[in-house]
Amino acid sequence: MDPVKMPVEPPKKRRIGVLTSGGDAPGMNGAVRAVVRMAIHSDCEAYAIFEGYEGLVNGGNMIRQVHWEDVRGWLSRGGTLIGSARSMAFRERAGRLRAAKNMVLRGIDALVVCGGDGSLTGADVFRAEWPSLLSDLIAAGELTAEQVEPYKALNIVGLVGSIDNDMSGTDATIGCYSSLARICDAVDDVFDTAFSHQRGFVVEVMGRHCGWLALMSAISTGADWLFIPEMPPRDGWEDDMCSIITKNRKERGKRRTIVIVAEGAQDRQLNKISSSTIKDILTQRLGLDTRTTVLGHTQRGGAACAYDRWLSTLQGVEAVRAVLEMGTQSPSPVITIRENKIMRTPLMEAVQATKDVTAKIHEKNFEAAMTERDAEFKEYYHAYLNTATPEHPKMILPEGKRMRIAIIHVGAPAGGMNQATRAAVAYCLTRGHTPLAIHNGFPGLCRHHADKPISSVREVQWLESDSWVNEGGSDIGTNRSLPSEDMETTAKCFDLYKFDALFVVGGFEAFTAVSQLRQAREKYDAFKIPLVVLPATISNNVPGTEYSLGSDTCLNTLIDFCDAIRQSASSSRRRVFVIETQGGKSGYIATTAGLAVGAVAVYIPEEGIDIKMLSRDIDFLRDNFIRDKGANRAGKIILRNETASHTYTTQVIADMIKEEAKGRFESRAAVPGHFQQGGKPSPMDRVRALRMSIRCMQHIESYGGKSRDEIAADPTSASVIGVKGSQVLFSPMGGDSGLEATETDWKRRCPKSEFWLELQDVVNMLSGRSAAHAHE
Ligand code: ATP
Repeated sequence: MDPVKMPVEPPKKRRIGVLTSGGDAPGMNGAVRAVVRMAIHSDCEAYAIFEGYEGLVNGGNMIRQVHWEDVRGWLSRGGTLIGSARSMAFRERAGRLRAAKNMVLRGIDALVVCGGDGSLTGADVFRAEWPSLLSDLIAAGELTAEQVEPYKALNIVGLVGSIDNDMSGTDATIGCYSSLARICDAVDDVFDTAFSHQRGFVVEVMGRHCGWLALMSAISTGADWLFIPEMPPRDGWEDDMCSIITKNRKERGKRRTIVIVAEGAQDRQLNKISSSTIKDILTQRLGLDTRTTVLGHTQRGGAACAYDRWLSTLQGVEAVRAVLEMGTQSPSPVITIRENKIMRTPLMEAVQATKDVTAKIHEKNFEAAMTERDAEFKEYYHAYLNTATPEHPKMILPEGKRMRIAIIHVGAPAGGMNQATRAAVAYCLTRGHTPLAIHNGFPGLCRHHADKPISSVREVQWLESDSWVNEGGSDIGTNRSLPSEDMETTAKCFDLYKFDALFVVGGFEAFTAVSQLRQAREKYDAFKIPLVVLPATISNNVPGTEYSLGSDTCLNTLIDFCDAIRQSASSSRRRVFVIETQGGKSGYIATTAGLAVGAVAVYIPEEGIDIKMLSRDIDFLRDNFIRDKGANRAGKIILRNETASHTYTTQVIADMIKEEAKGRFESRAAVPGHFQQGGKPSPMDRVRALRMSIRCMQHIESYGGKSRDEIAADPTSASVIGVKGSQVLFSPMGGDSGLEATETDWKRRCPKSEFWLELQDVVNMLSGRSAAHAHE
């Protein structure tokens, strides 16, 4: 072979390549956009490698430099715009030799690979072989030692892009929640038909080796029965399934039957269980009019949901950071997420752990497969079992441990409130507790003592709560009023209804209410019971958590609104939309929505708005429109939280922009208002509601049999459940180190330190606003 004659210029800037590989997944474009912009922001050059490893092997035009403007609008696009492929050539060393040569010739020595476990295995093989690939290329005369010298080390960082969520070591993969959303939309739709005709539906979802999509969709839609590859049903499952479904229909009065089956479902002997087999069993044994729906590729497509946009963006940024921080000998990391924390995990460990799960399934060691898949996965599975088939005789607690657990909603409605209540009710019934719903908050509770003795406290039956599985808002009714309005009556009602515990679902008012009850324990023994808050508010401003139910539903509604409005200005119109978000005094929703839609700027109350800021932003917009050419042109979005400024209202800002644009572009104000709270809760809010709610019930249950004074002496008996970094914790409200004293900004009604504030920098960096402001 002839040595390459062309001399290679040592690159002035570091060149980082990015590729997407394996099956496409929503959010891959967001990851590519973030990698490209973060690379450019970090003074590197970004290269897109088209068609996955195939592009790396073939080189030429399949490896192209990408500029800032090239990735405009990519966040809202489905699939992968740089293409994906399954490359046979890259599986062979000869292919990888060609890939290495192409990289050296193009001066690329860092690669961000977004794909599934196969793609990441390929990446690690490539990295491990890199030195030997280079020496082979020199030995074969393909490259000279001089050419190779600057590229001796190859840095590879993995991003997990896959709808299956099958990678160990991460709670979510880029794409899985979008796919789950598509499945839930479809099942919610068949739900209505199933109910109308009292039919059964067997819905087959993707997942050859991993049951995550099946499990989460079963939780989100209240499926009667579930089949996943990791945990095959016990032998004789046909009888078990028919018995549960008969019980649900005949004894409990359920009109619709939903069975979710992962495509890789199997029995304990590893024989496939197909959707048609299940349908036949239900039809023949129960005489149930049953239909099968195989969702197929609709589960893959479409725009990414809010979470995937957020995740892919933050992980893409983190991947570039990892590249820049890696030494020459550093093992490749994969970027993961644990609860709310973006982390780095050794790539091969994650890939190996994933392979181990598959091996455990083949060995029929299903318990180990469940444990090794992910601790969270197992927890969700048991939570599903507890709520789907309540009243297991074995699960019922002894009499002295059973409790009367009151459930109340406080504050504004938020997606997930109903699902949290449903899960609590189902858990209570499974364990022998009495679930008591308090209608319409604290005023509802106290109504008993008003002139009309109508009780707003009611025992909830399973069938009623089961119907809340996909409903938005609050079915038992929520109210902002606090117990301090009538503490005396509140205490009397606690005694009257013999509450042994109170489960409060809501926002900052819920937090305040429990704080008041806790403080009133000195005077009223009635409050010396476990008091637990499950945060649910679109503002996400409850101390003790980084995530509140309802915030994800709100974000999804907002991004749909922004995408639609932005599209209205595509092609010819140069238009800026100033969109007002809810969130009260917290800029959380505005900031995270800004991250998910790629907003030009986000105005939040924590920062305020001033004239200099507006003036700089108008200059930035002007400059932006000058550079904005070609197919990606669409409207631009500015998000303004409703309380960001008294003076600079949404309309005023839109008018100022219009005036200053001097005809070069125009602007419009838009206020989605209460639209943001609404609709069916997102799957993430549904599944987290279930998980958190069951944790709360277990926490409450741990006080069973304890005396009131013992309970009151335990700081965690009045607490908030929340996500903090990579953990889910109960944080005590009271005491010197409790949330009330240390973490609460009572005046602004939010936590003292807000974890998401640093996301503002990412929004500004990715829009180019921070660079524009820095140049002023
Ligand atoms: P999905 O989760 O959608 O299946 P994946 O990344 O696991 O995605 P694969 O088809 O397994 O998809 O892998 C994608 C590509 O990665 C392969 O076509 C191949 O080019 C490369 N690849 C996979 N495994 C290896 C390996 N062991 N060595 C080299 N390359 C590999």
